[in-house]
Amino acid sequence: MQKTVAILLVAGLIAGCMGSSAKNADSSQPGKLKILATTQMIADAAGQIVGEDAEVDYLMGPGVDPHLYQPTPQDRIRIQAADVVFYHGLHLEGNLHEIFEKMQSSGHKTVAVASDIPEEQLLGWEGGLHDPHVWHDVTLWRRCVQTMADALIEQDKDHADAYRTRTDAYMKELDELHEECRTRVAEIPAGQRWLITSHDAFNYYGRAYGLSVAGIQGISTESEAGLKAITDAVDLIKKQQLKSIFPETSVPRAAIQRVADDSGASLGPELFSDALGGPGSGAETYVEMIKTNTDHIVGGLNGDPANE
Ligand SMILES: [Zn+2]
Repeated sequence: MQKTVAILLVAGLIAGCMGSSAKNADSSQPGKLKILATTQMIADAAGQIVGEDAEVDYLMGPGVDPHLYQPTPQDRIRIQAADVVFYHGLHLEGNLHEIFEKMQSSGHKTVAVASDIPEEQLLGWEGGLHDPHVWHDVTLWRRCVQTMADALIEQDKDHADAYRTRTDAYMKELDELHEECRTRVAEIPAGQRWLITSHDAFNYYGRAYGLSVAGIQGISTESEAGLKAITDAVDLIKKQQLKSIFPETSVPRAAIQRVADDSGASLGPELFSDALGGPGSGAETYVEMIKTNTDHIVGGLNGDPANE
């Protein structure tokens, strides 16, 4: 009973004032499992698994930086009202981590989707933490999708078979995507396989698909680019004679613009690092995001004029 009241309250609070991220809340259907994801990438994966059998919503829309995201009072209500909450974990959502850990310990179904990736496959970060940007390696994201599917199958047994069938189909799509990325990146001449971006979101992408990577702002966007990081990047670009470097949709572009100006490299098209894109962006789903990033990276480093 208490939960019903909370859901109605949520629907009333956010109807009409929060745009697309609240699209499911005001058409809440009784009986359907309610899933809330932090990022749109996670919501996309959950939607692939559940189809129309459950409701999926998310907190962070297109272009929102998860490292810096501050939960609103409405977010807290939505989190409490959901049957299943999926967050990324690995400290990606720097300001939400504590809320989720508390909920987990109080028995709420709250799942960190990256939690089943074996530690030896994770890259390090400062302070003994791990680099959270695992989704840029499709094989690691596949593991996250499996973790979501396992949780949903356990939570919603009536739809378990349908969830398994959809998950299997989606996994095949991810396997093809992984192979496509490997093939495409191999089109870049070996000496040009350097990916320089605003912040260090692409270390897993580089490891999986064969590029060296440098981010000007480090792994979290909390710290600003230092002068040394900028001059190091300029030196590297000149030494490797790189044609393009890449801004990101969720990070201000002042620092990367300066590196482009000082090095003579082109500023390539924006990459989708930590958030999907809005309608018409070519990155409305996870699969589209990875394909679009790969197109931009391959085109930019090959000096394809269509990318400039
Ligand atoms: Zn990031």
